[in-house]
Amino acid sequence: MSSASPGSPGPSRSPASSRSPGSSRSPGAARSSGRRGLPEHADVLDNPLPVDVVDNHVHLDITREGDEPLEVAEAIARARAVGVTRLVQVGCNLDGIAFTMEAIERHPEIVGAIALHPNDVPRLAAAGRLSAAYDTVDRLSVHERVRAIGESGLDYYRTGPEGIDIQQDGFRWHIDLAKRRGLALQIHDRDAHDDVLRILDEEGAPARTVLHCFSGGAAMARECVDRGYYLSFAGTVTFTNARSLREALAVVPLEQLLVETDAPYLTPHPHRGATNASFLMPYTVRAMAAVRGMDVPTLCRAVAENSERVYGPWS
Ligand SMILES: [Zn+2]
Repeated sequence: MSSASPGSPGPSRSPASSRSPGSSRSPGAARSSGRRGLPEHADVLDNPLPVDVVDNHVHLDITREGDEPLEVAEAIARARAVGVTRLVQVGCNLDGIAFTMEAIERHPEIVGAIALHPNDVPRLAAAGRLSAAYDTVDRLSVHERVRAIGESGLDYYRTGPEGIDIQQDGFRWHIDLAKRRGLALQIHDRDAHDDVLRILDEEGAPARTVLHCFSGGAAMARECVDRGYYLSFAGTVTFTNARSLREALAVVPLEQLLVETDAPYLTPHPHRGATNASFLMPYTVRAMAAVRGMDVPTLCRAVAENSERVYGPWS
C-alpha cells in the first residue's frame, strides 16, 4: 500500500516522501495516463445523483498496490461531478493521520476522521509506540475540522487471538476520546459483532456512533438501530451475494442511514474488483434506493442530512 499527498502526488511513491507537504506538484502537472485501477468508463458520469450527498468514509491517502495515485483535487472534482460533493477522509495510521490533517486544511470539501486502526494497535504496542501514538491522536483530535474518531473497533479477521486484549483496550480508548471531544465515532467491525456491541454497551457509546461499512444481518442491524447508532453502507450492498446485507439495509430507519465508499476498497457492482473512488458511490446509492423501494432524491436528501447531523456542517 502506498500513499499520496493531500495536495497532489509527488513523483516519488515512497511513503515517506510522498506525504511530505513540500513534495506536492502543481495540479497542472497531473499525469494523464495510467489509473489502470479505476474503471475505464463509469455510467455514473453520464447520470449524476439528483441531490448532493456525502461519502462518509474514504481513504484518499491509500493507493492500492499497482495503481497510479489519484490526486486529491481530482478525486474531489470527479466526485463533485456526480453529486458527491463532501467527503469524510479517514486517516487510521500515523501517516494517514498526517495526510488527513493536511487535507482538511487544504480542501473545504473534506472533513477528517482520525484513529489508530484496530489492526495497527497491536503492532504499535509490540513496537513500544502505542502510547506516543495515542498522544498524537488525542492532540490532533481538537482540530476544528476533525469531526470523528475512526475507524476504531475490532478486527478478528486480520488480528489473531494474541492481539485481542490490546485491540479491545484500544477500542475503549477511542470510545472515551470520542466522548471527551464530543465527536462522532466510526466503528470498524470485522467478524466481531458481539464484542463490538458489548464494549459499546459497557463503555457507553458516543452520542453519534457510526457502524462503518456495516456487515451484519438484519438482527444485528436492529440491535444497532435500537441503540441509536447510524449504519453506513458501502459498495458491498450491491454485490450479488449480499442478500443478508440488503435485508439489514431494509430494516434501518431512514434517519439512521449513511453511505460511503471505503475507497479505494469495496468497489460497487458493476465495477467490483476495480479500484474504488468517491465518484463511483452513485452505484451504491441507487442500489440502496432500489432495495428500500424509494426514490433516489429522497434517499440522497436523507443521507446528506444525516451526514451533517453526525459530522457537522462542512462550511
Ligand atoms: Zn475504512
